[in-house]
Amino acid sequence: MLQLYTESITSYKRLKTREVRIGDLLIGNGHPIRIQTMTTTDTMDTLATVEQSIRCIEAGAEMVRITAPSKKEAENLQNIKDELKRRGYNTPLVADIHFTPNAAEIAARIVEKVRVNPGNYVDKKKFEQIEYTDAEYLEEIERIRERFTPLVLICKEHGTAMRIGTNHGSLSDRIMSRYGDTPIGMVESAMEFLRICRSLDYHNIILSMKASNPQVMVQAYRVLVSKMEEEFGECYPLHLGVTEAGDGEDGRIKSAIGIGSLLEDGIGDTIRVSLTEDPEFELPVCRDLVKRYNGVAGNKQSIEDFNIGYDPFHYNRRQSFALDNIGGNHVPVVVADISKRATIEPFDLKDLGYSYNAVTDKWTIADTAPDFIFTGKEELPFALPGTLKVITWPGYWETCSDQQKYLPIFSLEEYSVATKKSSFINFVMVDCMNEALQLEDIEQLQALGEDKTAVICLSSTNKNAMQSVRRMFSELLKHEIHNPVILITDSNWQTADEHLIHYGTETGALLLDGFGDGLCLGMTQTAYDHFNASETTLSGRRYNKTSGKETAEQFINHTAFIILQATRTRISKTEYISCPSCGRTLFELQETTAKIRARTNHLKGVKIAIMGCIVNGPGEMADADFGYVGSGVGKITLYRGKEVVKRNVDSEIAVDELINLLKESNAWVDVDSPVAELH
Ligand code: SF4
Repeated sequence: MLQLYTESITSYKRLKTREVRIGDLLIGNGHPIRIQTMTTTDTMDTLATVEQSIRCIEAGAEMVRITAPSKKEAENLQNIKDELKRRGYNTPLVADIHFTPNAAEIAARIVEKVRVNPGNYVDKKKFEQIEYTDAEYLEEIERIRERFTPLVLICKEHGTAMRIGTNHGSLSDRIMSRYGDTPIGMVESAMEFLRICRSLDYHNIILSMKASNPQVMVQAYRVLVSKMEEEFGECYPLHLGVTEAGDGEDGRIKSAIGIGSLLEDGIGDTIRVSLTEDPEFELPVCRDLVKRYNGVAGNKQSIEDFNIGYDPFHYNRRQSFALDNIGGNHVPVVVADISKRATIEPFDLKDLGYSYNAVTDKWTIADTAPDFIFTGKEELPFALPGTLKVITWPGYWETCSDQQKYLPIFSLEEYSVATKKSSFINFVMVDCMNEALQLEDIEQLQALGEDKTAVICLSSTNKNAMQSVRRMFSELLKHEIHNPVILITDSNWQTADEHLIHYGTETGALLLDGFGDGLCLGMTQTAYDHFNASETTLSGRRYNKTSGKETAEQFINHTAFIILQATRTRISKTEYISCPSCGRTLFELQETTAKIRARTNHLKGVKIAIMGCIVNGPGEMADADFGYVGSGVGKITLYRGKEVVKRNVDSEIAVDELINLLKESNAWVDVDSPVAELH
């Protein structure tokens, strides 16, 4: 019996799904979570595709997806497969299909799996909001059945698996007209195809619900699981991915939030991390995501009569009262933990985005400067910027000259017996360790609820930390305790990838459910020392190109803001939605993305999509404000929202034209302030 959308809301337990065979690979039904990627070469270039596939397989890919935009590429899959086999590789291949049933029917006879997009397999997207009567709607479904049935029968005959892969950005007009671009619309889009498969007794199916917004994606998978359970009494395996996640730390964090939140709930049988980087660099990230769940035991939490007190299918931020700038309608705050520094100098604040100019006697504050610093020390020997407050241990706080600028942090036990407390704000740490909450725990929490100076800081040393903290939020909701809450997450991992995934997963899952009025990320002493002693790398490559080396504090602060941006709870910079590229890509995507970022990364809150082709790009750039889309060899088409503004611009001048478009649309500001230079 499912708990809403998962086997267990309070503990780690894999969702039970049907077993599906892809060549020799088994997926679902408790088999290990499989990792995969997609080639970016031209599918007609057999050698390049084979060689890139081998690099991906050697990096750990258990399946390799290759685009088949038309019949000729679908046919060439045979050459690719044969060459891989000749070189000793039997890894299952997946043909990626959009718009072309003919190509799918050819590919299904050659490769182990085909991926179809229900938004464009039969329907051509026209962006028309047509009203459909019930009869017209049914007629459309019949048309889909007619066009889709031959593929299902070929798959059945050849033992080929199929992924019904819905994308938030490419829902059909029919679905859009009835459901809008909602998680329910995404689910219904796949269910229409799934019902046809089931009616033909074909079950070798995997489903996906990808979106570039992790919140939409997570809700869609949750709705899908509950819908399959309700309608069929069973679930098909799920392929997880965040589309157009971008590159570098942004892409990793966005993927960790979307994919990791679901994996935490035991949902997901195979994953792909879509980065705008060479595909082999996606595999280490996949491995880091999946290894967190190898051999994970569940919490022993009692779940009978468990009422979660919130709606996991719709986003609603938990209501809290405001204490200064924390909680209420304020964006989540960031607390930077700099307590591991032996001494703290003004220069340390520059690392975090506060720069002091002695000549003008002014502080410049970057958009990604934290709201609080935790020092765990006595009063600092220099004046601080006006907006920055300091959190420290109660013993030090008592000796501080300004007890509104400096604020104390207590453990729950200390706080309940403390004789000296702040009349303004007290931070109170609660470890969500309890296997089952006892009456005295509830009484202590209720006492905090009465205290209008207390900010609760939640963390957990439990095995399934995220679920334990989420469980505590549920108790706060049920007992109507409205204090603001800061999420404290420490990482004991080693590499930058592992830390990003840890922070993204543990805090992202909570933020997506509307929990948390602030973040405080930290590292254990061992992790901190290791981070500062080694070079910061992502997927084994150094990534901090500007300074070459980032301190642990810079890295953590930066990460906190990226998490808030990716969960759309606090926007502090430009957002890029860039496709991972594939055989259809019409320009050098990585280089162009870097060029566009370099010119526009000071445009706070603007969303720019950089998409490799005009076939899928416009549909998949979701809710971007501007689009830069490959429309021919050396040609770029520029969009404002969904509207084409400049068609087939020469790629030599396309980035300049994009800047002009931003200017014409009043979305541009000049990089003329020191604030912008700090980004
Ligand atoms: S948008 Fe990018 S990844 Fe998607 S089909 Fe086009 S080039 Fe390939």
